[in-house]
Amino acid sequence: NIPHSDAFVFFGATGDLAYKKIFPALQAMILHNDLNVPIIGVARSDWTLDKLREHARDSLEHNGGVDEHAFTRLSALLQYVDGDYQDAATFDQLKLALNGAIRPLHYLAIHPGMFGTVVQALAKSGCTKNARVIVEKPFGRDLATAHELNCALRSAFPEESILRIDHYLGKEAIMNILYFRFANSFLEPIWNRNYIDSVQITLSEDFGVNERGAFYETTGCLRDVVQNHLFQIVALLAMEPPSYRGYAAVHTQKAEVFRAMCALKPNDLVRGQYIGYREEPGVAADSDVETFCALRLFIDSWRWAGVPWYLRSGKFMRESVAEVLIQLKPPPSKLFADSQPTSGRANYLRFWLSPNSGIALAARVKREGKEFVGDQHELYLGGERIIRRETETPYERLLSDAMAGNGALFASEDAVEAAWAVVDPVLTSHCPVHLYQPYSWGPGAADVLIAPNGNWHNPGPGHVGA
Ligand code: NAP
Repeated sequence: NIPHSDAFVFFGATGDLAYKKIFPALQAMILHNDLNVPIIGVARSDWTLDKLREHARDSLEHNGGVDEHAFTRLSALLQYVDGDYQDAATFDQLKLALNGAIRPLHYLAIHPGMFGTVVQALAKSGCTKNARVIVEKPFGRDLATAHELNCALRSAFPEESILRIDHYLGKEAIMNILYFRFANSFLEPIWNRNYIDSVQITLSEDFGVNERGAFYETTGCLRDVVQNHLFQIVALLAMEPPSYRGYAAVHTQKAEVFRAMCALKPNDLVRGQYIGYREEPGVAADSDVETFCALRLFIDSWRWAGVPWYLRSGKFMRESVAEVLIQLKPPPSKLFADSQPTSGRANYLRFWLSPNSGIALAARVKREGKEFVGDQHELYLGGERIIRRETETPYERLLSDAMAGNGALFASEDAVEAAWAVVDPVLTSHCPVHLYQPYSWGPGAADVLIAPNGNWHNPGPGHVGA
């Protein structure tokens, strides 16, 4: 019986994230009868409430459309507090706007450099009592800064009230990994180093940094998506079954995966940069920031010892896709002329995560005729090949969960720090950066990295069944 939050406060109300994601999520929550509390935006643009309402409408028009009925309700619930986060008066105004709410949810949709300031000011003004807080990624830029950030948050909130949002965890296909693994019994006997040869995960985008060059220069691919999104996927695939229902058990098991990961060494990592990145606005002419990275990691646990996990992500790659491929070992003897390893991957499980979601199980099946030769087939689980748009966006799902105090799909303090401990050794190792052609699958060095276990699966256009 966890109580719902009774006010939604968002810092960064005039910012890019609010425009692109938060207003659409709020409208959807209202539409689905999931939100009926004061919604208070806080920023310092010297705006009026009417201006914020206009801005919200514009955001909806550009991000999925306005539902007039829900928008009228959103406008009525919306309030605006104008003021600098460095100024205590801003928080006095916020307190007034909260108007007696006793369990507010504070969403820090602001630059991480401001988290500490806002958290302290919230605490000083008495706005943290029984409150929850959502923090946006990035959760630090290395182990030391993540730890600092966690200390700042913990000075004002207990861990169960801190919700570190990684929108990737709110995606239907990612949630299905957890469900599929533990709602079925046939996987468990093979889900280990005895049957699994290797795992590969690809998360690629077919566009560059666009207008975000200056931001990207301070981040790079490893920090931007690998240490968080890809590691979270690894944790869901690799974790032990939670021992009880409830999100704390999932958090514990995921953190155990990160703790069992071997710290990365420079030769586990390939960094790449697309040709033309250095000419992007905001990017240094001699930048060696990676827009691509591939890495090999090992999880030193009873279940996974010796199984390589290959992760890659990049900008300006051939397709925009996200996919997991769990490659099973080949049959122990080569009975047929076309047996593994010469004729393909034989048995694997493929989770395609984006743009569509679905699961495929691959097997070889005999071709009709005298010869004992066969073809590779994929069995699509969940009906026909699944192509659909999600009905609930990850932000709507995660903000609704946060209001309800359900932390299952958020990242925990120990998991975040344990994940940073894995990548920390290579953050400053200055591995060379390999140039690659835009619209390619990245530098050749990534193929060399995976060569001991075959090659990367490069999904084709449309992704499904490719
Ligand atoms: P942004 O566009 O720069 O917005 C920053 C917001 O913070 C603005 O509303 C700004 O208000 C306010 N602000 C900054 N300093 C302030 C101060 N001293 N006092 C009062 N208000 C202040 O940033 P963003 O892109 O929305 O990103 C916000 C957070 O979300 C960051 O942590 C980012 O990493 C994360 N994030 C963003 C995206 C995205 O697509 N944008 C995606 C994932 C995560 P004024 O405009 O009034 O100055």
